[in-house]
Amino acid sequence: MSLIADLPTPALAALRISVQARLDAFRAEGLKLDMTRGKPAPDQLDLSNALLALPGNGDYFSAAGEDARNYGNLQGLKEARALFAPILGAPPEDVVVGDNSSLALMHDCIVYALLKGVPGSPRPWSKEASPAFICPAPGYDRHFAILEEFGVRMLPVAMSGHGPDMDAVEALAADPSVKGMWCVPKYSNPTGEIYSPETVARLAAMEAGAPDFRLFWDDAYSVHHLTELRHEVSNILEACERADHKDRTFVFASTSKITLAGAGLAFFASSPANVRWYLACASKRSIGPDKLNQLRHVRFLRDVAGVHRHMDAHRALIAPKFAAVIKALQRHLAGTGAARWTAPEGGYFISVEAAPGTAARVVELAKSAGVALTPAGATWPYGNDPNDSNLRLAPTFPSLAEVRDASEGIALCILLAAIEAQSVQRADSAA
Ligand code: PMP
Repeated sequence: MSLIADLPTPALAALRISVQARLDAFRAEGLKLDMTRGKPAPDQLDLSNALLALPGNGDYFSAAGEDARNYGNLQGLKEARALFAPILGAPPEDVVVGDNSSLALMHDCIVYALLKGVPGSPRPWSKEASPAFICPAPGYDRHFAILEEFGVRMLPVAMSGHGPDMDAVEALAADPSVKGMWCVPKYSNPTGEIYSPETVARLAAMEAGAPDFRLFWDDAYSVHHLTELRHEVSNILEACERADHKDRTFVFASTSKITLAGAGLAFFASSPANVRWYLACASKRSIGPDKLNQLRHVRFLRDVAGVHRHMDAHRALIAPKFAAVIKALQRHLAGTGAARWTAPEGGYFISVEAAPGTAARVVELAKSAGVALTPAGATWPYGNDPNDSNLRLAPTFPSLAEVRDASEGIALCILLAAIEAQSVQRADSAA
C-alpha cells in the first residue's frame, strides 16, 4: 500500500469509500469486543488454580513456625521474601511482602510522603509549595490518576525507545520542587520498552534538586516475557548505592499477572532506611498481611525457576494474541504512513502511534464498530495527549479468535481516521 499522503486526491477518495465499506461490513457482524484493560484471561488464571487448595491439610505454619492464620509479621514471611528477592534485585531483609496490590503500595507511599515525608525530607511533600513528579509518557494511567487525585503536578517526558528522554529528566530533576518520578523499567506500560543500562545509570547518578527525590520503580512486568529472551534491566538499587544515592528508589512489583490478578502478592523493596520508614508508616495501617497467601505462593511457585516455568505457560497463551494484533496492523497499515506500532518482547500492551489528531476518532470509530478501546489520552498525564495520537491495545483478556476479529476492526478504524484527516487537510489547504 502506498503512503496516504502521496495518493492523488481521487485515489484518496476511492480508498476512503473502500475502507468505509470494509468497516461497515465489520460493524454489520455485530461483534462486542473489549481491548481496554491489561487483564489476564481466564485460561491464564486457570494456570494458578492449584493455589486454591493450598496451603492444604492443616499445614499453615511458616518455616520459622509462625501460624500464618494469625496476626503479625508486617514485613512478610521470610520464605516469601527470599523467593522474590532475586526478582526484585534486593536482599530478602530489604523486601516487604504486602497484600494483593502493588498499586495500593504505590498509592500509600505517595500518601505517606505527602503527609509525613520520606527519609531525608526537610518537610512533608504536601508542605512544599507545588510538589511535582516526572511522568514518562505515554505511561500508565493509574500512576497518573494517583498524582492527580492528590494534586501532585505532573511533568510529562517523552520516551526514547530505551527509557525516558534522560536529558529532559535530568533538567527537570534539578528543580527542588520535583520530588519523584514514575518508572516502569521493563516492558513499559504501554510502549513495551526496556530501560537501557545507560538510562538506569543516569537515573541513579543524576543530581536531584530535592534531597528526598524518589524513583517509583514499578517493576510490574519483570518476568513477563513474550519471547524466549528473558531481558534483564540493570539493578537500580545497586546503581543508586554506587552513586551514593542509596535511598533514591522504591521498587514495587506484584504477582497479579503471575498468579491471580485479584489475589496475588505485592512487594516493596528498597534501602534499609526506606524499608524501616515504610514499615513504620504501614504499622499504623495494618497488624499484618495475608500470610496464608504468602505460604500458598511459596508452596506453589517454589523458587525463581518455578516462576520462570510458570511464566512460560503464560507466554504460550498470550504471545499468539500479540502476534495476531501485529499481523492485522501490518496487513492493513504497513506502508500507509497511517500509524507506527510496537512489537513488545514482554508486558501486556501494544502501543500504537496513529496519525496525529486521530486517536480520539479511532476510539469513536471502534466503539461504533463494537470494539471497546482504552480512551484516547489515557496514557498521558491529565488524559491529555498533546498529539492525540497514542492508542494502547490490551490483547490478553479476549480469546484469540476475538483478538483476531478486534484487530481487523481496529486496523480499519486507524486507516479510515488517517484517510479522513488527510482529506480534511487537503480540503483546508485548497480553501
Ligand atoms: N503497574 C503497572 C505498570 C501496571 O500495568 C499494572 C496493571 N495494569 C499495575 C501496576 C497494577 O499492579 P497490581 O495489580 O499489583 O496493583
